[in-house]
Amino acid sequence: MITASPSARLSSPAPDWRQLWREAITDPAELLELLGLDALAPQLPRDDAGFALRVPRGFVARMRHGDPRDPLLLQVLPQLAELEDVEGFSTDAVGDLAARESQGLLHKYEGRALLIASGSCAVNCRYCFRRHFPYGEEMAAAGQWRQALAHLRADPSITELILSGGDPLALATSKLEELTRGLAELPHVIRLRIHTRLPVVLPDRIDETFLGWLSALPLQKVVVLHANHANEFDAAVDAACAGLRAAGATLLNQAVLLRGINDREDALIELSERLFAAGVLPYYLHQLDRVQGAAHFEVDDDRALALVEAMRARLPGYLVPRLVREVAGDTSKRPL
Ligand SMILES: *Cc1c(COP(=O)(O)O)cnc(C)c1O
Ligand code: SF4
Repeated sequence: MITASPSARLSSPAPDWRQLWREAITDPAELLELLGLDALAPQLPRDDAGFALRVPRGFVARMRHGDPRDPLLLQVLPQLAELEDVEGFSTDAVGDLAARESQGLLHKYEGRALLIASGSCAVNCRYCFRRHFPYGEEMAAAGQWRQALAHLRADPSITELILSGGDPLALATSKLEELTRGLAELPHVIRLRIHTRLPVVLPDRIDETFLGWLSALPLQKVVVLHANHANEFDAAVDAACAGLRAAGATLLNQAVLLRGINDREDALIELSERLFAAGVLPYYLHQLDRVQGAAHFEVDDDRALALVEAMRARLPGYLVPRLVREVAGDTSKRPL
């Protein structure tokens, strides 16, 4: 299967990213079997604890076989702990997200407007607010582009448009093109930022069509990736990052601090080093949103601060992410 001969390539072209998307694993028993962890099956919560398992096969290939504590597996495998009710963790930690959906465009921070361009993700991360917020598949109906563009047109203070979600790169490139054609008429918008986990979890998404679109954009371009652990990188992710950089994008990463996954000095340092090797700078390290079902991932603030101090002592300043929390009503992310 991994032959590199040109004829083999010709007869079996690389699968389209949409096909890989559809072929993602959604059955926990299949996932455990692939990893040689069948013995864990009886410990799984029923009905995926109300938030479907979903993980692309390429991401599973980066998990360690036979390791129930694998840091990539723990990000996607439903756990019994998700069923515990923990005080302070609620489904309406996402209260303002309901507002986001209807509005589509969120303008909370000076100069930047954030568009929920898509509700879909290739992967379901267990710690994510999305577990309580089943977005519609398509948030970006043509009408909504028009509405968002009208808002941008009317407010010259907005110089940066952020595409977020869900994952905005769940949209077809032709759909993204529609949006950016509209941006061309707004000279005050000089920067496009894309928040996406796809280059990491499904790097095939960064295909030639996409890179052609990105390169041709007459805008400053920033892509903010989301990786939480160095093991999420492999040659395919490196290639996606290289493509994005060659298309003129500045690459940043946001991670979430997650107990049992990356809450060790060495893991965080390794992540920063690995990001830089791929041409990505660490941007934010987020304290967890307190969503119901994710309490077992929380790291307390004192420990979080100590971890970042430890990073600062051992890394160049540009490899130390800013430790922040999102607080509803604030005019920026809140530094800890
Ligand atoms: C996080 C966020 C941004 C971007 O914030 P930066 O600090 O510039 O990365 C913009 N708008 C909203 C609504 C956000 O939640
Ligand atoms: S990719 Fe991002 S938005 Fe999607 S489930 Fe994971 S953390 Fe949530």
